[in-house]
Amino acid sequence: MFDMNTPASRSWLVAGTAALLAALPPAQERPEHDASAARASRTANADATHRSSNTTAGRPTHAPHPALPPLFAWKYVRMGNDAFVAAKQQDPEHPAPKLLPRPAGAGRYVCAVVVCDDLDVEVAPLLGLRRQDVRVVRVPGPFVNQEIAAMLERVAVQHDLSLILLLSHQHCEALAPPADGAPRHDAIDERRALVQRLAERHRQDLHDAMLRRQRELLLAASKELSERRRKDDLRIVPGVVDARSGRIDWRQRRAQELPISPVK
Ligand SMILES: [Zn+2]
Repeated sequence: MFDMNTPASRSWLVAGTAALLAALPPAQERPEHDASAARASRTANADATHRSSNTTAGRPTHAPHPALPPLFAWKYVRMGNDAFVAAKQQDPEHPAPKLLPRPAGAGRYVCAVVVCDDLDVEVAPLLGLRRQDVRVVRVPGPFVNQEIAAMLERVAVQHDLSLILLLSHQHCEALAPPADGAPRHDAIDERRALVQRLAERHRQDLHDAMLRRQRELLLAASKELSERRRKDDLRIVPGVVDARSGRIDWRQRRAQELPISPVK
């Protein structure tokens, strides 16, 4: 299904490839203060390494950082999602975006995705990825738990993972309040109710409150993930999927799109 050559997908391929070749991050997004600049330079160097060589022989032997920097991985899946949305507009029943070449430097997976189980859309095509290039965890919510954190930690360590997406979706059963207003007294509804209270307290959208909470829980559950996040070797990026269009509404604050997001 990925080999159909619609005009839209061809033009996306050309534009997408050009964008991938462009330096990351753009100059205007570079932070100005010194500590951040040093780390930004490191990210840029890792990216330069990524672009200049497809082989491990080309990497500096001391390189402790992922060969596919998290911002680069995220840019890749953003373009993949744009292509999916464009292809779905052309052919709503059988969207067939042309896939970009797999990004050099990616480990076993381009990204891992923790996504709500009742999202009725296949995840890999939604991100412009082949099924084998994405590690997908489907769970109601998605509400994370210790086992998910442990699995992501293993994947990060063993497979050089630099990007984790947390995806909720519109019209989610897990986030819908009980129709009759009476609590269901099950584990999913308890977690929904907690997130609802957080959203009200912080005057946030329910999805924002939920996804932010899950990111905090993942980082709290794993020192390894937390440390990689601190060094900007790993990003956890939230988004909300519109199943009808396939578009992902990235719930990322502007500051977090910088090469180095502020230390919390
Ligand atoms: Zn759902």
